Amino acid sequence: MGENLGIMDGYCFELITGPMSCGKTEELLRRIRRCIIAKKKVLVISPDVDTRTGGDYIESRNGLWLDAVKVKHSIQIMSLVKDAQIVAIDELQFFDANIVSVITELMKQGKKIIGTGLELDFKAEPFGYMPQLMCIATKVDKLHAVCMKCGCEEATRTQRLIDGKPADKNSPLIMIGGDETYEARCIKCYELPDVKKKAGFLGLKVLQFKEH
Ligand SMILES: [Zn+2]
Repeated sequence: MGENLGIMDGYCFELITGPMSCGKTEELLRRIRRCIIAKKKVLVISPDVDTRTGGDYIESRNGLWLDAVKVKHSIQIMSLVKDAQIVAIDELQFFDANIVSVITELMKQGKKIIGTGLELDFKAEPFGYMPQLMCIATKVDKLHAVCMKCGCEEATRTQRLIDGKPADKNSPLIMIGGDETYEARCIKCYELPDVKKKAGFLGLKVLQFKEH
């Protein structure tokens, strides 16, 4: 992918995005490893939201992992950077609004930032501050996953399933109880049932019927 290891050339912000299971973290780890081989000082950061992993590390699906500092508020990143030349940030979609100015400031300091983030949430709407981050990035790589339903290689969405069924648009962002899972799907296989909207459509049909 032709990354520039000569960070003395100036700042850059490489953003790796896509749906779940597209290999974002794997790609991030690959780029970090190259920086380590090039003897650069690397700081790895991940948001303090994921309660599934207890340790301070990021792990990709193929079992690769790296030590990471967990951060609650994006502003904390500024005091952690110190003399790190490369700042790698996983799961950017979970950070607060300040992440945009934090990354801008790091670029001004001549740092190389490599980040990953889900571009769309389970409703297929832009996730957090990813749109702004995609705009300020100097390089964006959109990775695709394999669709878990039809097997095509163009999965761009993250399907939320509750007890194995597509989650309704109005389902809460945080589920308590119920078996919640996610899978990558293509635009054709992605499903977002909307109970409220369905009711609205039915009402409209009745009105049209009366007019004729
Ligand atoms: Zn599909």
